[in-house]
Order: sequence, then structure tokens, then C-alpha cells
Amino acid sequence: MSTETDNALDSMLPHINFDNSYARTFEGFYVRCRATAAPSPSLLQLNHALAEELGLDPVALDSEAGASIFSGNAIPEGAEPLAQAYAGHQFGSHVPQLGDGRALLLGEVIDVHQRRRDIQLKGSGPTPFSRGGDGMAPLGPVLREYLIGEGMHALGLPTSRALAAVATGELVYRETPLPGGVLTRVAASHLRVGTFQFFAARGGVEKIRDLADYAIARHYPDIAEADNPYLEFFKAVAEAQAALVSGWMNIGFIHGVMNTDNMTISGETLDYGPCAFMDTYDPGTVFSSIDRGGRYAYANQPVILPWNLTRFAETLVPLIDPVKDKSVEMLTGVLEQVESRYKSHWLAGMRTKIGLTTEEPDDLDMVNDLLWVMKDGKADFTLVFRRLSQAARGNSDAVQDLFEQSGAFEVWVRRWRKRLEQENMPAETTAQAMDRVNPIYIPRNHKVEEALIAAVNHSDIEPFKKLLAVLQNPFNETPGNEAYATPLPNPAYVTFCGT
Ligand code: AMP
Ligand code: MG
Repeated sequence: MSTETDNALDSMLPHINFDNSYARTFEGFYVRCRATAAPSPSLLQLNHALAEELGLDPVALDSEAGASIFSGNAIPEGAEPLAQAYAGHQFGSHVPQLGDGRALLLGEVIDVHQRRRDIQLKGSGPTPFSRGGDGMAPLGPVLREYLIGEGMHALGLPTSRALAAVATGELVYRETPLPGGVLTRVAASHLRVGTFQFFAARGGVEKIRDLADYAIARHYPDIAEADNPYLEFFKAVAEAQAALVSGWMNIGFIHGVMNTDNMTISGETLDYGPCAFMDTYDPGTVFSSIDRGGRYAYANQPVILPWNLTRFAETLVPLIDPVKDKSVEMLTGVLEQVESRYKSHWLAGMRTKIGLTTEEPDDLDMVNDLLWVMKDGKADFTLVFRRLSQAARGNSDAVQDLFEQSGAFEVWVRRWRKRLEQENMPAETTAQAMDRVNPIYIPRNHKVEEALIAAVNHSDIEPFKKLLAVLQNPFNETPGNEAYATPLPNPAYVTFCGT
């Protein structure tokens, strides 16, 4: 409970113009909850550009008052902290109630582009959904989510954003005691497939319709007037998720926990836990310590996509048509298109990566051949595509060096050059277009680890800040940043959920 002194302090905080539609609309499907006080919060990073985009005052927030807000110690006027309820399939098994066990939705704001955005604290203490967990987050995973999420945004993929990272001054107990942190996360919304699963199970048809109407108004307003808006809604979400997963595949990203509670209705990447970018190309790559069966391995992501969407479809059956069989048939029709929609996004992405602007029937085969040669040659995924632009300019030595044995690659390059000739473009134009889509800097695992170790073990935030700055310009090569562009050999890299 807040005291009178708290309230006096709260009224002096920087102003945030909240407008909390979720709290207004879904009473009974969330629990109002306060954050646990952090003993001595310090604001390690504030995202000034994002604050401005949200219509907030970054200078006022980059302060002790900001540290208070972003640790959950102070509740700004208009915030209505709540833990959202959701369910989900985790590694294929249904869990009827998950919910925000270590997160609180502070509220929503309308940003300067008139988009409604959620502001959420992650790691701010237990909620009624904590299920035995402590509701806390160690600082390392907080900073990791900040780096990888902001890196993802700079790479041009839809994602939740990081507004602030705070060290709480408190220890969090995992295998060893670790410094605690809170991430302030911003998202188009936190509606997940798992939110629909929870509403379908607990609220019946009426509630699932309310939720679908809310999601349509918030994310897909254009379809509200369609003949069958709920079917169009399903199509729109399927399309957004297909585009997202193809974006991950094009960039070499492995989410790591594609449970239905981590797949958003908006199509943004959500929940940076054990995720990581692949170095050496291998479709079987898994980093997560808990993903023993490789369910969420790199190459399995497009397979899990329709699986998750099928779980989503199941919740919408009562809305599509009064006759259940007809509903199922219509939803199935959309589901059957998901694979081809995914492939079409993916191939379009791969074409631009290898410098093609036109389409030829053999392109798919050529891309798959390159991937096969990369796997066989144990080549670095990101660098192959980046250095291919130098080959477009005429010199393929640098890209060739990435392959353990380059014979098969040389054959491929000859084929690719012939194909480029058909494009009839100046080589420099092609090369520059490739450099605009193939990053030189991704969140390299060794650089992420280095930044986290410095921050967590040595209270040195500078490597984090430097890496964040590098990741904000992933496509422009900068002299002096060579170490950020290359992998370190570490075949045993393992990531953890951060819980
Ligand atoms: P995740 O795997 O991060 O998507 O989390 C799955 C579920 O576990 C969600 O309901 C989280 O809120 C909950 N959870 C994860 N870590 C914790 C924690 N430290 N304390 C309480 N709940 C947690
Ligand atoms: Mg989650």
C-alpha cells in the first residue's frame, strides 16, 4: 500500500500522460499490484530517443526521480500498475495460467506518432502470478534484453523496446547471489497468443470477442469494417508473425523460447531470454540451456510458427462462424497459407541479401545452395552476406576466407555472378543495396558477455554503452570497431532464461 509520503513524492515526478485502456477494459483479467521497493536504485541507461518518441521528457527522467520510477519505487500519477493474466503452451505443454510473474504494466501512453504503447517494468518483484518465483531479474539479463532488443530495432525488425535499465541495489538469489535489475520495456502491446488462450478458457465467447475487438482496434484498425473481421484478424496476425519469423531467419536470430505466451499479436519480437544470434551457420543451432530437444532451434522457428498460430486459431473458433465446422474450415484455410507466406517473405529477404531485385525461378535453389555451402564450410552467417558485397564489387577474397574449404563456394560465386548480370545494375549500386540489408554489427555473443560481465561483476557500464552505440548503426562500417564485427570461436555458447 502507498503511504501519504509516497503520494506526495509521486506527485512531484516527471509527468507521463497515461491512458490505460487495458485496465479500463479487462477488469478481472489482471491483478493490480505494486512493485517491491528497491533499496538503492540507480539508473544505468535511459533511452532518450525512445523517451522523446513516447512524448516523455528525457532530461527530467534521467535523474533520481527517473531511477525511482523505473525501479518501481515511485508510481507516477496516472500509472495503474497491474499484472496481466495469460496462459500458454510452453515447449508444447499447455499451462493454463502463467501471467506476469515478474512484470508490471505501468500503463499505456499515446506516442508522438499517435501509437498506443505499453510501458512495463520487468523484474519489479512478485505478483499473484509468480508461482513460487521471486519476481526479480538479475541485472545481467536486464542489460542483455536491452542490448539485443535495441540491436533488433536498429536492424529494422519489429520488437519491444528498452526504455530504461536500473540496478536495484538488491541481490537476487539464483545459483549464486547476483545484483538485481529492472528493465522498463515498451511494446505496441503485451497481448500474446497466450492472452487469447487465457481469455478463451476463462471468459468464454464473450470475453474472447472483447479481446479480439480490442486487439483489432489497437493493432489492425483497418479490418474492423471487414465482412468477417475475426477471420481477417487471424490472417493479419498470421501475416505479421510470418513476416517476423522470416526477418529472424534472414538475420540469423534465434529467439530460444517461442512458447505461445511469448508470441505477440502485434507481430513484435517479445521476451529476450535465452535468445542469441548465430555465428557459424548451422540450421540446428540451439543456445538455450533449457531447450534440450532443440524445439526452438534456428531452423525449427518457421515450423513452430504455424504450430503456435494453430493454438491461436483454436481460441478464435467461436468468433468466425456460428457453425463450428465452418469456422474450423476457414481458419484451416488461413493456416494452410502460413508456410507459403513465410517462404515468400523469407525468399524476398534472401534475394535482397544477395543483391537481387528481380525474381527468377532458380533463385530459391541458388539461395539454398549458398546455405548448404555455408554449412559445409562452417562459415559465419552474418559475415558471409556482408562480405558478399565486396564480391559484387569484384573481389571475393574476403568472403572466400570465411569458408573452411572454398571450392564449392567458388562454384556458387560463378553462378551468382551470372545471375547478377541479368540484373543489369552497376556493381556499386548492387553492393550498396546489399550493405543496407546485411549488417556488419550484430550483438555478437562474446561482446554481449563482455559488456554484461563488466557491468555486473565490475560495476563498469562503459562496455555496455559502447556496444549499444555500435549496435545502433549496424549497417555502417566504422574504423576502430573491428572487434564488434567478428565472432570468437566458442562452439559451446549456452544461454539461460535469465529467471
Ligand atoms: P518466460 O519464460 O520469461 O516467458 O516466463 C514464463 C513465465 O514465468 C511467465 O509467467 C513469467 O512471468 C514467469 N517467470 C519467469 N521468471 C520469473 C521469476 N523470477 N519470478 C516469477 N515469475 C517468473
Ligand atoms: Mg514470457
